[in-house]
Amino acid sequence: MRIDAALRDARSRLASSPSAALDAELLLCHVLGQTRTWLFTWSDRELNTAQLAAFEALLARREIGEPVAHLTGEREFFGRPFRVTADTLIPRPDTETLIEVALALPLPAASRVVDLGAGTGAIGITLALEQPDWQVTLVDLSEAALQVARQNAKQLNSPVQCLSGSWLTPCDGLFDLIVSNPPYIDDADHHLQQGDVRFEPRSALVAADHGLADLVEIVRQATSKLVAGGWLMLEHGFEQGAAVRSLLVDAGFDTVRTEQDLGGNDRVTLG
Ligand code: GLN
Repeated sequence: MRIDAALRDARSRLASSPSAALDAELLLCHVLGQTRTWLFTWSDRELNTAQLAAFEALLARREIGEPVAHLTGEREFFGRPFRVTADTLIPRPDTETLIEVALALPLPAASRVVDLGAGTGAIGITLALEQPDWQVTLVDLSEAALQVARQNAKQLNSPVQCLSGSWLTPCDGLFDLIVSNPPYIDDADHHLQQGDVRFEPRSALVAADHGLADLVEIVRQATSKLVAGGWLMLEHGFEQGAAVRSLLVDAGFDTVRTEQDLGGNDRVTLG
């Protein structure tokens, strides 16, 4: 079968996915070890039996809902490939907002930065690569997630430090910037029964007190871990902006504001 025909078949098989065409392309790229540009350039090439069988096996898993990032083992974030496993949250485009806001902050050239609950390390490693003079630490409670973060740091040549522990507890000294994309979804949220989240670690998604418990704890710990003029920046749910602004204001932060993601939803609050 030709590449274009295989992709056409795959698209109709994956029709229940909101991104059927892209899913099919990414899975076939993975099987062939090629880029999407290559696929389109050589779309009239014939696939051999082994390639078709491998593609078929991935499509069957995608059909039952497994995330494409788990099937290919990676997801692109801020233009770079990050290794992803079932032990980590899959990096989201919404989180790129946090990167853009962080890079625009008035911070010292050699800032000390920490990414709490780093997962794949997508946030901290991206910041370290975009600002090579920043000294970046990644923290995660999950040793399995830290293992993935270490692999990403190595693969992307990023000299970040990785620490195991709960939020700021394993960290020494003060930071110029504390960032986190913590769990913030309410246990009862129906969103947890749909799409990729069903295959992601619950510990990376769900927090007590309507999703606010970890955000509350991070704000509490951060107050004594920032230099004067340092920043705390938190990703949160689109309905949590006002609650997180109050948390920061009550903890004594000033210059508190919320930024929107690409979809125009409240996503990141900082102060
Ligand atoms: N934004 C993700 C989602 O809604 C959740 C990420 C998180 O809980 N930190 O699927």
